[in-house]
Amino acid sequence: MTTQKILLCLAHPDDEILGPGGTIAQYAEDGAYIELVCATRGEAGEIADPALANPETLPQVRERELLCAAETLGIRKVTFLGYRDSGMAGTPQNEHPNAFINADADEVVAQLVATMRRVRPQVVITFEPFGGYGHPDHIVIHHHTHAAFEKAGDEGYRLDLGRPYQPQRLFYPIVRTAFFYEMKAKMEQYGLDTSFFADLEVDSRERWPDDKYNVVVNISDTIRRKMTAFACHRTQFGPDSFFRRLPEADMAQLLQTEYFALARPESANGLRLENLFDGLEFPVN
Ligand SMILES: [Zn+2]
Repeated sequence: MTTQKILLCLAHPDDEILGPGGTIAQYAEDGAYIELVCATRGEAGEIADPALANPETLPQVRERELLCAAETLGIRKVTFLGYRDSGMAGTPQNEHPNAFINADADEVVAQLVATMRRVRPQVVITFEPFGGYGHPDHIVIHHHTHAAFEKAGDEGYRLDLGRPYQPQRLFYPIVRTAFFYEMKAKMEQYGLDTSFFADLEVDSRERWPDDKYNVVVNISDTIRRKMTAFACHRTQFGPDSFFRRLPEADMAQLLQTEYFALARPESANGLRLENLFDGLEFPVN
């Protein structure tokens, strides 16, 4: 039987957790081969505790945090594209010459095509067009992954990058707006500060619609792994982190369903698949 393979194309260490983490862990447990391409080392991220890192060491620390999470989830290999975290829109980090948003598109797409042709995954996963909450790097990796998905199987494109291979499906993990409202309601029950959620109303028009998905995955079997992998990212999610204010059992409950939208091949929104590989043929690679 052909091995199920998934390639994740993401921007920062920790992008692998919230949307697809539990699903990835389930496939890994079932024997799938999972590889992750990460565009940056999250150089513009938080440093929750100065004892963990400083701005100079943060890239190495976040690389280790990602490797910790990858091992926890069962991701077999992680490669970095080597660009710099561009930071949030409008910050000075956007101007850095090596910022991912300033990267040459052909160069990024070529790296992704080379990876797709080497790994030969049936399923590729990347961000939806708004990147969850509008992070510029999430939006950029979305576009480059789409371009690479279109070119990977093209017999006329860069044969020096490997034998052409067309992945069969491209999915977006969807973190539903409802999740944040459920989290807000739960935090209110505990009398916690919920001012952070004011942003939800501001960007709601651009957020992916909650009812637009094709696969729902119950990850109750791997929610522990997801939470453990989440905890690997210590610089990002310290004790004061917004994501750690609720008791872990409540967070685990809020996080135990994952949603995916099928981006390629294009499909009707009403299409419901049992899982990411449902109905796929498995040609010999
Ligand atoms: Zn990110």
